[in-house]
Amino acid sequence: MNLIPARGFALNGYPYGEADKILQLYTLQWGKVKAIVKGVRKPKSRLASATELFTESAFALYKKPHSDLYLLSQAKILCGYAELKKAFQAITALQILADLLTQALHDAEPNPNLYALLKGTLAALGESSDGLETVLSAFIIKFIELLGHPMELDHCAECGASLQRKGAYLIPHRGGALCLDCSPSGPSRLKVSPAGLAILRKLRELPVAKARVVKMKPAFSRSLFLLLMEYLERTIEKKIKSVDYYLKVLPAGEKP
Ligand SMILES: [Zn+2]
Repeated sequence: MNLIPARGFALNGYPYGEADKILQLYTLQWGKVKAIVKGVRKPKSRLASATELFTESAFALYKKPHSDLYLLSQAKILCGYAELKKAFQAITALQILADLLTQALHDAEPNPNLYALLKGTLAALGESSDGLETVLSAFIIKFIELLGHPMELDHCAECGASLQRKGAYLIPHRGGALCLDCSPSGPSRLKVSPAGLAILRKLRELPVAKARVVKMKPAFSRSLFLLLMEYLERTIEKKIKSVDYYLKVLPAGEKP
């Protein structure tokens, strides 16, 4: 077996055997991969802290031929994001991020731009407990585009009419926003107001570190977040289950 160096994050994990764990990792070099970590659930394991959710570490991986599973034998913490993991709200946001990456990405497809976006998002989330949802929304809109689904937000994706100061419908698999005339009826369309559309444009344009300059009332921020989440779910045709928990523990109107 050859040593394969990688840097990345654990997205989730489950116990395996007596003291082992199988982790889902998101790595810069190899994209999303699964790895077994031997003995990590023993009290004195040196690998435990380096394989916590969203701790960026340098991993030493080995891969058996004809197996999708890597063996993770060493890990060194590069960035622990300790501040980020102290606040309940931020931890809840991290669970959504982990769920998004787990559900939306295929295995073994590296994407350096996405890796950079993820690091930027973690840094931005850790900066303050205010505006977490705005940062998440900024991540989602950029994430959808990095997955290969560019979103038209300036002009109707069908007829090309300007959408400046106009409401529209976001329609998954149709290239983004469609004007009211072109939009087909039916449950697949997601209504977006002129103000909502203007904010989506801004969140897409700004680096994620600057997302908080976009100010929204909590109820508006929540509805935009849910709109993007629904657009993503319909685009990837999968459900992001952690959203239900997020909505339960962080009701709209409370300071996110
Ligand atoms: Zn149109």
